[in-house]
This record gives sequence, structure tokens and C-alpha cells, in this order.
Amino acid sequence: MPELPEVETTVRGLAPVLEGQVIERIILRRQDLRRPFPPDLGQRLTGARVTKLGRRAKYGLIDTDRGDTLVFHLGMSGRWRIDPAEPLPHDHVLVETAAHRLALNDPRRFGSLDLVRTESLSQWPAFAAMGPEPLGSDFNAALLADAFRGRTAPVKALLLDQRIVAGLGNIYVCEALHLAGIAPGRAAGRIALPRLERLVAAVRTVLVAAIAAGGSTLRDYARPDGELGYFAKEWRVYGREGQSCACGAPVRRRTENGRSTFWCSVCQR
Ligand code: ZN
Repeated sequence: MPELPEVETTVRGLAPVLEGQVIERIILRRQDLRRPFPPDLGQRLTGARVTKLGRRAKYGLIDTDRGDTLVFHLGMSGRWRIDPAEPLPHDHVLVETAAHRLALNDPRRFGSLDLVRTESLSQWPAFAAMGPEPLGSDFNAALLADAFRGRTAPVKALLLDQRIVAGLGNIYVCEALHLAGIAPGRAAGRIALPRLERLVAAVRTVLVAAIAAGGSTLRDYARPDGELGYFAKEWRVYGREGQSCACGAPVRRRTENGRSTFWCSVCQR
């Protein structure tokens, strides 16, 4: 499933292809993904010039000179393909500029496309109650201390709460907690400030490393059937149940509500 680094990598891959370009044609090969596309999507985007690409949490943002932002979410299986040699069955939306054709491919169709007025993006329902970006300066130990104060919920659950910090998913929370040496089940309100500082640094480290790994695959983006956003990664604990942690102890796993937690009971307290 695409998480924040995959979305960031996708945005960085799309930016040089789209920024400054006029959208000449939009082809909708169906009318919905997770929910219906805006009925006037094609009308509002055709002829618009893309001014800037960006990201908020796990959403990609494509700003146009008409004051609209095309907001995309990759759901479980979405990806953009640049200049595909031939359309695939799950290429649901095609975006054409004078120089390129982009295909939004999403076999499981949990993704979304929305058109939001750029000036009111921060009030868009999905964004209105969202916490700060984990790579921004507003995400810091003081913010976590405030959010965690008095809370007995596990720290892992609160890091996944988008109101506290935006865009963190299961993989990167597991990885960051391991890097910070904090047990995922620890009561959030009982973590001292110096450990919260380590946690903030760990979150940034795992995200930046993943974005850098994705960036290295971007050199291939222009190849025929080039796909953005997915890259091989080596995790510290995620998906490594029973294998050795760097300390030698076996990585442990537990599952709650269909979501797995991976951790090391020696390194994480
Ligand atoms: Zn360990």
C-alpha cells in the first residue's frame, strides 16, 4: 500500500512532467474509484495549466491556473504510469499534455480523485482536522507531549491518528518506534520528553530514507511503462517476524484489527 514516501516520490516524479504543461485531454475510462469522480472533472481540467505539484499526508496535489487543485489518493494499489506503451486494463484515467500521457492505474480501486478550490484546500473535509506533516517543523516533541498527555492508549495507535500527525502508516510507525527504541504498546502518556525527541527524529529518519530510496528509482521514470512510487526496501522489523533484529533477538509480531505490529522486545521498551 502506498504510504507517505511513495506519494512523495510519485509527486516528485510527476512534477517535471506536469508543471507548466497544459492538460489537453482527460479520458475517464470509468466514472469512479472509491467514490464517483466530480462530474465536471474533465471540463474544469481540460485546457488548464498545471502550476505546481505538492503533497498533504498521503494525498498528491496538482494545482492549476484555474484555482482548482486535483487531489489524488493512491488507495491500496494506485500508481501513475508515465508514457505507457499501451494502456493496461486498470488504467482508469488518462491525462494528456502536448508532450506526455499519464495513466492512473488502480486495480483495487480504493484510490480517489477530487477537485478542490486551491484557496479552500485546508478546509477540505479530509484535511480540516489533520495534524501537521511529519517532515515539517510543526511536528516536534512538544506537540507529541501535548497530544499524549494523560493518554493510556498505545503510542503506536496515537502515531497512526491522523489528527495528531498526518500521513503516517503502519510500516513507518513500526520502523520509527524500533529506531527510537520505544515499545509500540507503551502508554503514550508515559513517555518522557527526551524519548519523544528521539521518536520525532526517528520518524523523520525513516521517512527521509524511504523517499531517498524511491528517488533513486526515479531515474527510470521515463522508460516505457515507467511506474512511479514503488521500490524495494529493507525494513528493520516490518514484515520480519521470526528473523533476527540487529540485536540478535527474533522480531515479534502481533495482529490487532487486521493490522500487524512488528517489534523487538529487547531493543524496544
Ligand atoms: Zn532488537
